[in-house]
Amino acid sequence: MSNAGRTKRYVGIDLGTTFCAVAYLDNHGQPVTIPNAEGSLVTPSVVLFEPTGDVVVGQEAKRSAVIEPDLTVECVKREMGERWYSRQIMGRQLPPPAIAAMILRKLKQDSEAKIGPIDGAVITVPAYFDEGRRQATIAAGQIAGLEVLDILNEPTAAALAYAYRDFLHKSDDVNEIIRLVDETVPGHHAVVYDLGGGTFDVTVLRIEGKDLTVLATDGDVRLGGKDWDERIVNYVAEAFKQKHNQDPRQDKHAMQGLFASAEEAKKNLSVRAKTRIVCTHAGQTMTVDLTREQFEQMTADLLYRTESRVNRVIDAAGLKWGQVDQVLTVGGSTRMPQVLELLKRVTGRPANTSLSPDEVVAHGAAIHAAIRLFQMHHAQTKRQTKAAKPKTPKPKAVEEPLTPRAIDQADVLPMLTDEDLTDTGAEPSMETTVQDAVVDPAQDPVAWNPSAQFDDKEATQVLRAITTSNVNAHSLGVVMTRPDKSKVNSIIIPRNTSLPTSVTKRYGTVVPNQTSVTVIIVEGESTKPDECIPIGVCQIKQLPWGLRKGSTIYVTFSYDNSGRLDVKAVEATSGTTAQATIDRANAMPQEDIAKARQAMARIKVA
Ligand code: AMP
Repeated sequence: MSNAGRTKRYVGIDLGTTFCAVAYLDNHGQPVTIPNAEGSLVTPSVVLFEPTGDVVVGQEAKRSAVIEPDLTVECVKREMGERWYSRQIMGRQLPPPAIAAMILRKLKQDSEAKIGPIDGAVITVPAYFDEGRRQATIAAGQIAGLEVLDILNEPTAAALAYAYRDFLHKSDDVNEIIRLVDETVPGHHAVVYDLGGGTFDVTVLRIEGKDLTVLATDGDVRLGGKDWDERIVNYVAEAFKQKHNQDPRQDKHAMQGLFASAEEAKKNLSVRAKTRIVCTHAGQTMTVDLTREQFEQMTADLLYRTESRVNRVIDAAGLKWGQVDQVLTVGGSTRMPQVLELLKRVTGRPANTSLSPDEVVAHGAAIHAAIRLFQMHHAQTKRQTKAAKPKTPKPKAVEEPLTPRAIDQADVLPMLTDEDLTDTGAEPSMETTVQDAVVDPAQDPVAWNPSAQFDDKEATQVLRAITTSNVNAHSLGVVMTRPDKSKVNSIIIPRNTSLPTSVTKRYGTVVPNQTSVTVIIVEGESTKPDECIPIGVCQIKQLPWGLRKGSTIYVTFSYDNSGRLDVKAVEATSGTTAQATIDRANAMPQEDIAKARQAMARIKVA
């Protein structure tokens, strides 16, 4: 094996809407941000497609966006999960993961120039990303040649970075740290307020010694610093129109330039009381003055949108503000004084801004990568012990599960009634969860030596001790047929349920002598199946003849910490079973990922 003797290296990547950051844990177990080739700790998530076929990513691409708007892609993260990017690039349609992969490739190659070969990464996503967007993110990583060790919610990453730092700071003595971590300390609650360039995300976590549990999460995929920029753009454009009777927003070159000036002005207003913006269009130039007060007035509704989400998520977590111990800020836009004032007003105390809002998510992802390695090592040891014991054969799925694509064509039988639904919850052990990793480096002996990555014994012990848990951001259910034949989404795992979880519900067959049952699995809150996203199908065929109407079908959803959903449907009398696993790693067909990866290898990314 060419890699023999080398421990695999995993980094944490914050793949932001407007900026990205990469971090790793150094030999002392400290998270460190890796600068890009231009020496900056963050890389703009902007891709410029050169007519030569080469690709430029980052600051240079952001600058060129003004001159070459048609060849430039910004905010591709907003379109992850869509089949194609919203406009053609040089006459070609591109899937968003292929564009995001260009960004990841640049991050990988710049980081490798600093720390040596990188094999894989934990990539972060907003907590409310649905299954499709998470899968698209994994596909992007694979196209860029990265093993995607895990997908981690951004707020969990941020809270993890804060919690990890607190553990490291509590003592210099390893035994003392372990004692602190293990001791039953009263839990506390943290709110992570993350206002980035294109997305807003707010999450409530319970931090209890070594356990981080997401209690509730909410967000807005279309709210971020760019919206604040846009208000300045409109303000300046209106002033220009008044004076010169020309609208710079009609000219996309002028518009891109104006957006860059607006962002600059916004950042100035974070530290100064007033600023000036220069706008040039149609041979005319105009200077517009803007005060912080005016800026805050013209964006008050945007800030209010974050406030109402924050209050909603506190409600969803079943908390009162008095029970929140700290508010952590993430994302460059939290540097705006209006945000800090809002947080102080609603919580009654200043937000904790002690870690860099641009780097904290990547740091948390790097810490999570290290934790996963330890967990997998633990699972591997257990597996080896188990391997010595004789195996009990697993029940076989009667039918290969259908893919979501096949749903449209499937002959869907109305099989479920809403009679007599019961819930039983049972939590699978952590061991099961860690075995179901997206990529399992534990299978690869070269990957496997986590302790060798860190000299610092103290950090190693802390990584071993911390566990994270999560919630599902969207409800998961099945399409059920009511007696009046109407279809309804019957939610099995409600949103904001702690993961891992396993829930069984009882349903009934719809007609006498029903011979098959089709369970359509959907993600979403609406009771109307059309308003939910179909994510898979599980079909039981060859039911025994003579089943009465209403015969029991148990449907079990087991959802693990990394977002993998196992679905099992069992007919109670015969035990006929069907199973399906909805694995995020299979979002984009593997052959498409392989093709995109080959194409990527021929492209020069700088
Ligand atoms: P992120 O997606 O977390 O990298 O957030 C980047 C966003 O933060 C962009 O909209 C930036 O304009 C914004 N930002 C960065 N620095 C500042 C600042 N000093 N004041 C206001 N906004 C900022």
